[in-house]
Amino acid sequence: MIISMKLHSSKEEIDQVCERIRDFGYKIHAIEGEERVVIGAVGVGDVTACLESVEAMPQVEKAVRISAPYKFVSKEFHTERSRIRVNGCEIGGDEFIVMAGPCSVESENQIMRAAEGVAACGAKLLRGGAFKPRTSPYDFQGLETEGLKLLAKAKRATGLAIITEVMSDRDVSLVAEYADVLQIGARNMQNFALLKTLGKCGRAVLLKRGMSSTIRELLMSAEYIVAHGNPNVILCERGIRTFETATRNTCDIAAVAVLDELTHLPVILDPSHATGKRSLVPALCRAAVAIGADGLLVEVHPWPEKAVSDGAQSLDLSQFRKMMHDLQPYLDLWKESRVTPATAAV
Ligand code: PEP
Ligand code: MN
Repeated sequence: MIISMKLHSSKEEIDQVCERIRDFGYKIHAIEGEERVVIGAVGVGDVTACLESVEAMPQVEKAVRISAPYKFVSKEFHTERSRIRVNGCEIGGDEFIVMAGPCSVESENQIMRAAEGVAACGAKLLRGGAFKPRTSPYDFQGLETEGLKLLAKAKRATGLAIITEVMSDRDVSLVAEYADVLQIGARNMQNFALLKTLGKCGRAVLLKRGMSSTIRELLMSAEYIVAHGNPNVILCERGIRTFETATRNTCDIAAVAVLDELTHLPVILDPSHATGKRSLVPALCRAAVAIGADGLLVEVHPWPEKAVSDGAQSLDLSQFRKMMHDLQPYLDLWKESRVTPATAAV
């Protein structure tokens, strides 16, 4: 259920409504907008009786039953876009945010060169896996804690925020010590123990769409994280498995527009895993900007031919520079479309 309070309701009025909802056995979660408070009620109870009772209260504007099982992440619950602040920048706000860096952290020289290179081209976050989900147990598994320390060093040198993957609930507190954003990979999108732990990790989370997951399942996974206490979730389309073999995955670019209709959470695109092929990456970056994504997660390596993972889909630094340069006219249009009337009037 979602209960929208009348404009400028007082704290006492809001508390009374919350109390009534709790009496019906629901947990409540209030979101304070600029002018109005919206209350989400979750749990199991007599929905009809609760709705009728709450609707009869004079302070309540509207009380509605929500058919979507994801309440907290639904746009019906929170109509304004969520803006997620990370290290001085805002994801989901008025700036298109580029996160870039190698698939894996491999060495100090590699991550420092990558960090300096992507920072100089306007990236705001440095990506790099220290814990790697690999299909084969014989492939490089990541530098783990050593990799996290190298990322921290790159952050100190460049000021870039860090996004890196965490694969197990055991490692959440360790990775959260070093990372600004915890990445949940496609293979772990439905690792529910991990999702619950992320509710209390104190960091923003980038949740990647599972390779065989529907948009509804992606939103349900995001709901786990928010329902367990962490509203700072960013969604990422990274391609899904289909019969098509020309690309590593099939980029479901429409998912960005679908998610924009369904959720207030920011949505970014990973064109690297979506295609598996560096020559296709710039075109998908343009598509992401045009469709209104909030940002990109791009694999960039100073020497892709030497990469221990995902070299074929990684841009080198000069290709990344050109891609960012060529994206600028599209970003200017993006910015125009994002500026809210209130901001435009200033
Ligand atoms: C990655 O970002 O390097 C990665 C492993 O991505 P995904 O989980 O989307 O496969
Ligand atoms: Mn990768």
